[in-house]
Amino acid sequence: MVAMDGPSGTGKTTVARKLAERLSAGYLDTGSMYRVVTLAVLRAGIDPADAAAVAALARGVTVEVGTGPDRPGAALDGADVSAAIRGDDVNHAVSPVSAVPEVRELLVAQQRRIIDQVLAEVGGIVVEGRDIGTVVAPDAPLKIFLTASAEVRAARRGAQDSTAGRTAAPEDVRAAVDRRDRLDSSRAVSPLRAAEDAVRVDTSELKIDQVLVALCELASQRGMLSGCVQPVGSEARP
Ligand code: C5P
Repeated sequence: MVAMDGPSGTGKTTVARKLAERLSAGYLDTGSMYRVVTLAVLRAGIDPADAAAVAALARGVTVEVGTGPDRPGAALDGADVSAAIRGDDVNHAVSPVSAVPEVRELLVAQQRRIIDQVLAEVGGIVVEGRDIGTVVAPDAPLKIFLTASAEVRAARRGAQDSTAGRTAAPEDVRAAVDRRDRLDSSRAVSPLRAAEDAVRVDTSELKIDQVLVALCELASQRGMLSGCVQPVGSEARP
């Protein structure tokens, strides 16, 4: 199992999915689970800052996420919400919702069940989030903490937004990224932070393939080599 944590805009999702593919492993995007609960909160007209109401709602909804790295997908009460959970409204409300302890308790328990099931069925899994190496799976044999400079993270988030058809001024994107990271890092329960035994990888100056080469090396050092080979024609190192 590989635990992959870090703030947004570090390339975490792309890297985690590609690494899972190369390792022939499953994949779990825990952020999408917090996003599904957040969407439910917004649809119910609940204030994301009302922790008691958020907790009560979270107990009554069904969150499902796919574990294939090609098309993971997410569902709320049986309906596909893969696109809806990427909206600006969810981006804005997800940090307060995920700071509610009961929400975390419910989702961490579900994440551990999913991890156990995928490990039993597929043999490996790459799990991405903010607290995977510290809380969800502190015994993971490989923990990665991806970082990147604030400028690079804001630029990547802006590029993602424009691909999704949204346009925002660069300073607004930067402010939104900073806000979410500040909230995620400062919350009382399971804040975003690197586990002591996590390997830090700064992706600011690296292309995806270069990050993957570094991670494949780390995976192979931990006995997870199978299939983790560099694709023909890709660039190797800086
Ligand atoms: O990874 P992504 O940006 O989709 O995560 C959305 C939000 O979900 C994060 O900003 C954070 O508030 C929350 N999250 C979390 N713990 C995780 C994964 C995500 O609190 N393990």
